[in-house]
Amino acid sequence: MLPREEELRALICEVGRRVYARGYVASNDGNISVRLDDHHLLATPKSVSKGFMTPDMMVVTDMQGRKVSGHRDASTELKMHLAVYEMRPDVRAVVHAHPPLSTGFAVAGVPLNKSSLAEIIFSLGSVPIAEYATPSTQELPDAVKKYITAHDGLLLANHGALTAGQDLMNAYYKMETMEHFAQITLVARQLGGENLISRQEVDRLQGLRDFYGIKSPAPICTDPALAGSDGATCQFVDAPSSDGPRIVPPAGPGPGPAPGAGPGGGDGGEIRLTYRELAALIADAVRQVTRDV
Ligand SMILES: [Zn+2]
Repeated sequence: MLPREEELRALICEVGRRVYARGYVASNDGNISVRLDDHHLLATPKSVSKGFMTPDMMVVTDMQGRKVSGHRDASTELKMHLAVYEMRPDVRAVVHAHPPLSTGFAVAGVPLNKSSLAEIIFSLGSVPIAEYATPSTQELPDAVKKYITAHDGLLLANHGALTAGQDLMNAYYKMETMEHFAQITLVARQLGGENLISRQEVDRLQGLRDFYGIKSPAPICTDPALAGSDGATCQFVDAPSSDGPRIVPPAGPGPGPAPGAGPGGGDGGEIRLTYRELAALIADAVRQVTRDV
């Protein structure tokens, strides 16, 4: 066995431990793979907790997923990894897991594509949702193929998440970044919604991404006409247009208090009453009813 292969087997175990320790998988969920050379992959075996793997458990397959060596078999989800390697010659490693916050967004059908964090715009750009597919069928790799050409991180509708990178740790860190982004997004929405970076500023960030040579499979696009329809050629970032302030508060009444709305209500259609006012209203209603009778 080549020393490099030994290293990669050990590194897959390390990534598996981190994925498990951070709760990105339960039971035997998830799978990890890496290119061994131009014609072979090293992949995690099925039916094993990713937190407790040993280097000897790994499976070597060819680029069609046929087993070349190993005592165990690869997961049927390896098809999804093969789709990534087919579409992206630059990708050397793939991580698939079910991190609860990202998967929550995938289940709710909410993509992680708002312009809330400059660092996310620099790194992942946006995270679209690949359409639902029956597990283990060809539908899943096909859904992945559609979006992976332009993105390094995907949500898989009603399933989980997938990230791709130029090496194992890079693919794993993207999974961490995605889950962190999902957590921050959820908290911001619970607090009334995100203040968003303006479309004009996002375009400026794209310019900086180019200037600093930050690797990305596709440029960012901010034109809403491209949302959802063109996941294959650009990373759609949903950003409000603003020629003035670079940070734009949420539009309209959100799930929490609207900005500037003081106690006693705002203009969001919500009516707030004191106990005394409510009691008076009820008394009025009762009087009305008894009069009618
Ligand atoms: Zn899965």
